Amino acid sequence: MHERGPRVAVVGAGVAGLACARALADHGFDVTVFDKGRGPGGRTATRRVDPGLAFDHGAQYFTARHPDFARAVAAWLVRGVVAEWGGRVVKLEGGVATDTPPQPRYVGVPGMAAVAADLAATLAVRRATRVARAARTPAGWQVVDEAGGGAGPFDFLVAALPAPQAAELLAPHPFAAEAACTPMTPCWAVLLAFADRLDVPWDGAFVHGSPLSWVARNSSKPGRPGGADCWVLHAGAGWSAAHLEDSPDAVVPLLLYAFAAATGRTLPPVAYRAAHRWRYSLGADPAARTTLFDAAAGLAVCGDWLAGGRVEGAFLSGAAAAGRIVRAADGPVASAG
Ligand SMILES: Cc1cc2nc3c(=O)[nH]c(=O)nc-3n(C[C@H](O)[C@H](O)[C@H](O)COP(=O)(O)OP(=O)(O)OC[C@H]3O[C@@H](n4cnc5c(N)ncnc54)[C@H](O)[C@@H]3O)c2cc1C
Repeated sequence: MHERGPRVAVVGAGVAGLACARALADHGFDVTVFDKGRGPGGRTATRRVDPGLAFDHGAQYFTARHPDFARAVAAWLVRGVVAEWGGRVVKLEGGVATDTPPQPRYVGVPGMAAVAADLAATLAVRRATRVARAARTPAGWQVVDEAGGGAGPFDFLVAALPAPQAAELLAPHPFAAEAACTPMTPCWAVLLAFADRLDVPWDGAFVHGSPLSWVARNSSKPGRPGGADCWVLHAGAGWSAAHLEDSPDAVVPLLLYAFAAATGRTLPPVAYRAAHRWRYSLGADPAARTTLFDAAAGLAVCGDWLAGGRVEGAFLSGAAAAGRIVRAADGPVASAG
């Protein structure tokens, strides 16, 4: 524990950045988190639409395999931050649904962003702040946002961003080149509310042989608003890349048609429709190094892409980055840089 802990700037308030920030704050570090979004969560996102419609348009659910993450999930379960989604998840191919092997699937309550909100509680998070530059000076790291506002100096900088965005921020540090080698695929998401319930005997499906890769009845997840039949459709990586620059208005009808074809159903009237493009959705560094750390520069890099992708990987990567910083700070912090 430090009197007034070393100062840390965490860029990115997704699960990785927040897991890192939370652990550091719990060790007495003086942490500031920056995110360009309106709220924390990054790709664990929930869009709410009046009246009573909610859509997890990014991460759909998560699993917990590593004991460290399983412990965190167990604590969130007790506190009601997450719940198990008991929905029936199938593989859908040629209109035929086959059950997938059962496994605990967890979701944030009342939306996927609940985990990030819980991690962010009591942390200093500067929202709507896109960090344009971060530079190491003799005094420490200086962070400059796109409006020209500065913050710092910080003893440590944590880049908790999708790989291509980490590459942009960190250049010319050698970690930028490493991040640039990890491509991430895009994903078009369509958010739908039907006026009447869509009659299919399952709640989520991995779709094969279709522009779609995943569809889920969002309203089947625990703690979602009752009443409306809300669905999230995800297009596959190839289709999303081919249609990357299409407008949402062009994407929605194409994926609605694909949904009807995949289910073999006439869809009920649509009461709400929207599309969201994730430019960076999934991707993983095959070397799976969990975190990158340069003690001399006081620089850590974390994110799902360093730990196998997905929510669990993001959490483990952020926690590992915090561990490296805590150990380094117990050494000669003042000489870093
Ligand atoms: C469509 C989709 C479906 C998915 N499905 C699943 C699933 O079912 N299960 C699962 O486990 N995982 C899933 N994932 C992956 C999961 O969402 C991610 O692995 C995880 O949320 C990544 O967390 P992160 O903190 O590494 O990155 P992010 O969540 O991307 O966080 C990075 C943050 O950095 C911010 N940022 C970026 N640039 C800047 C900047 N210059 N300045 C300030 N802030 C910046 C962003 O706003 C963002 O909040 C899915 C992802 C998508 C997009």
